[in-house]
Amino acid sequence: MLDIAGLRKNYADLEVLKGIDLAVAPQELVFVIGPSGSGKSTLLRCCNLLEVPDEGSIRVDGVELLDPQTDINRMRQRIGMVFQSFNLYPHMSVLANVMLALRKVLKKSKAEAREIAEAALARVGLADKLDSYPAQLSGGQQQRAAIARAMALEPKIMLFDEPTSALDPELVGSVLQVMHELRDAGMTMMVVSHEMRFARDAADRVVFMDGGVIVEQGPPAAIFGSPGHERTRAFLANFQ
Ligand code: ATP
Ligand code: MG
Repeated sequence: MLDIAGLRKNYADLEVLKGIDLAVAPQELVFVIGPSGSGKSTLLRCCNLLEVPDEGSIRVDGVELLDPQTDINRMRQRIGMVFQSFNLYPHMSVLANVMLALRKVLKKSKAEAREIAEAALARVGLADKLDSYPAQLSGGQQQRAAIARAMALEPKIMLFDEPTSALDPELVGSVLQVMHELRDAGMTMMVVSHEMRFARDAADRVVFMDGGVIVEQGPPAAIFGSPGHERTRAFLANFQ
C-alpha cells in the first residue's frame, strides 16, 4: 500500500531523515514513536509531499510520488492526513468544512457532497453538530470532524500526526474510539502518537525512530515488553 525506501530529507545542513525504509501493508496500522525531533512529522509530511524529500522513493499503491510524471494532486486525495491542530475553517459550519473538500477536490455536486459529508460526520458521532461552527465544538469533536473530512475523500491510507496531543485528557478517548473504528473497518493507517495504550490495543506494528533512522520495529508486545535497543528502552521509560 505504502512503500518508503531510502528516504532522505535535509533542512539546510541538518539531516532529518537519514534513509528510511518502511512498508505499510493494506489494512495495517503502523504506530510510530520516537523522541522529539527524531523526524516523525517530517516522515509523515514527506508521504503527502508537504515536504519534498531529497532522495528515495515513496510509492502509494505502486505509484511513485516522487516521479515528476505523477499527478500529485490526484495522489494526495488518496492520502488522508490528520494533524495535531484540526485545521478546520473557523467561518464555516462543520458540514460546510467537509463538503468543501468534496466539492473542490472530488468535484462532487452540492447534493452529493452533502450526502457524503453527512454520512462521514455521522460516522464520527457528529450527526447532531452539522451546523455548528468549529468554535462551538470541543477539541475532541473538532478533531473528529477533521477525521471525517479526511475520510470523506475515501483515501487509501490515513496518516495521523499526534491527533490527540492538543486535547484535554477527557476528550482523547472519543478520538481514539473513532480511530479504533477506522482500523476495524480495514483502513490502512500510519499513526504518530504518544498514546501507548492505543498502540498496545490497536497497532499491528510499532516503529521506533531516533535521530532520523528507524532503530527498531515489531509487534507492540515485543517493542513494549522487551525492546532490543537501549535507546528504545530509555524512551519507553518515560511512559511507565
Ligand atoms: P516532535 O515529537 O517534537 O513532533 P518530530 O519527531 O515530529 O518531533 P520533526 O518535526 O520531524 O520531529 O523534526 C525533525 C527535525 O527537523 C527537528 O530537528 C526539527 O527542528 C527539524 N525541522 C522540522 N521542520 C523543519 C523546517 N521546516 N525547517 C527546518 N528544520 C525543520
Ligand atoms: Mg512531530
